[in-house]
Amino acid sequence: MPDPNGFLRYPRRLPERRPVPVRISDWREVYPPAGAELIREQATRCMDCGIPFCHDGCPLGNRIPDWNDLVRTGNWDAAVASLHATNNFPEFTGRLCPAPCEAACVLGIGGGDPVTIKQVEVEIADAAVARDGLRPQPAPVSTGRSVAVVGSGPAGLAAAQQLARAGHAVTVYERDDALGGLLRYGIPDFKLEKQHIDRRLAQLAAEGVEFRPGVNVGVDVTAEQLRERHDAVVLACGALAGRDVPETPGRQLRGVHQAMAHLVAANRVVAAAGGGQPAPAVLPDGTPIDAAGKHVVIIGGGDTAADCLGVAHRQGAAGVHQLDLYPQPPLGRDETRDPWPTWPWILRSYPAHEEGGERVFAVAVREFVDDGTGQVRAVRIAEVTVEKRDGRRVVSVVPGTERELPADLVLLAIGFEGTEEQPLLAQLGVRRNARGAVDARPDWQSDADGVFVAGDMHRGASLIVWAIAEGRAAAAAVHTYLGGSGALPAPVEPAAQPLAAR
Ligand SMILES: Cc1cc2nc3c(=O)[nH]c(=O)nc-3n(C[C@H](O)[C@H](O)[C@H](O)COP(=O)(O)OP(=O)(O)OC[C@H]3O[C@@H](n4cnc5c(N)ncnc54)[C@H](O)[C@@H]3O)c2cc1C
Ligand code: SF4
Repeated sequence: MPDPNGFLRYPRRLPERRPVPVRISDWREVYPPAGAELIREQATRCMDCGIPFCHDGCPLGNRIPDWNDLVRTGNWDAAVASLHATNNFPEFTGRLCPAPCEAACVLGIGGGDPVTIKQVEVEIADAAVARDGLRPQPAPVSTGRSVAVVGSGPAGLAAAQQLARAGHAVTVYERDDALGGLLRYGIPDFKLEKQHIDRRLAQLAAEGVEFRPGVNVGVDVTAEQLRERHDAVVLACGALAGRDVPETPGRQLRGVHQAMAHLVAANRVVAAAGGGQPAPAVLPDGTPIDAAGKHVVIIGGGDTAADCLGVAHRQGAAGVHQLDLYPQPPLGRDETRDPWPTWPWILRSYPAHEEGGERVFAVAVREFVDDGTGQVRAVRIAEVTVEKRDGRRVVSVVPGTERELPADLVLLAIGFEGTEEQPLLAQLGVRRNARGAVDARPDWQSDADGVFVAGDMHRGASLIVWAIAEGRAAAAAVHTYLGGSGALPAPVEPAAQPLAAR
């Protein structure tokens, strides 16, 4: 029986973040471990609601009140088992998820403070490592069937683990030199230190998953060869086609780059410092890309932009502006627009924002300004209004508001246009839809029979929690397709959408 008064006795509390001057001098995670006592206290705030709305916010169907109560009563082994029953990689979601479950928590009604679900999750996940080092769970019997997974992000890895544990022989193909998808070279270490990925990969390997990094499927191995070798294929290639602004004057100048180019180069430097291959901060063509001593302008207001901001601080930028097309959101939920328990449009400040830099809202870049040598020296911006007309976004410039911001390095973090067009798709006869994503039938198969699709490649750029949920659901469909006995858990259907009011 949970403590019905826990939330009255204890306010919502998170662990203190490491001090800004300390953390921007290294690449370690921003949050230190919370400590068992704080987590027990925070788990005690959960009311074990008759209708746990937190479940509706989570596509994985995490059993949140169950593990909150197990933590409250000190049953850590049972909490670990309960969390892993629905989530292959809680150490990723516990660190990185924006926590739609917390937005849906009953304690958040009327501006209240939800349970710190995500923090409890990460502490349980880390307890699992401390207790038995993520003990492998190999399948007792082999089915004799073989599955190829293309892409080693959270969707591909979740599908691989589910299928291997069900007895199928799984090979994960990844074109990068290291495994993990965006977790590896997209998301910086100050959000996710890479030993968490390596530990899971060791577990998957011990469960029989074979990894083939450095293999670009469609180029190094053809789709036909893949289909000859395996009984089914899961595509989990992500949504990595970066949106661009080719029409903005000066886009071709040196110093104007896609955000991902900056993040990948920076992550490779950090990986090298930790014992990986030596890597200077350069683009694949050798062009240096580092914020040290530079005036940096980041265009965009989401996760990617905030990650660039944190990287720029750690590289020693002279100053950073982060530009957003939209006006500054409200600090609290607007119930008329996004009623509880939906995901609210509010000002989201990441730890990177308390480290420095200036956010500028409701502006658009009119021109990247040349210093006369082909290198960017400034961006010319103007204030704008944005409205929806006939379902389309219309951006209007406010006359007389143009000004320049100094800029030696400009990073475009304005989203993604779906999965990349690549030889693999044509070889399989799989098409991208109008959003640049790959459609799945209700059984997760793409246009090509026996070829399944999951994660960002199917959903468009989304979240890790959705990638894991789709990877699990696609694995369940593959298992059925291969005639496996019993049913694997399938937390979402291809048409599932986040909780919304309209
Ligand atoms: C900078 C950034 C920060 C983010 N931060 C967060 C966050 O804090 N929280 C959150 O929930 N989400 C975050 N996201 C979103 C999250 O990372 C993605 O939703 C998630 O990684 C999608 O997983 P996936 O497995 O579908 O694809 P990905 O992680 O993109 O992995 C796809 C993999 O497929 C590989 N691949 C593609 N084609 C081939 C091929 N032909 N052969 C072999 N391999 C191939 C790619 O190299 C890649 O490794 C962030 C995204 C970005 C870009
Ligand atoms: S909605 Fe909040 S209080 Fe209720 S069960 Fe879920 S986490 Fe606990």
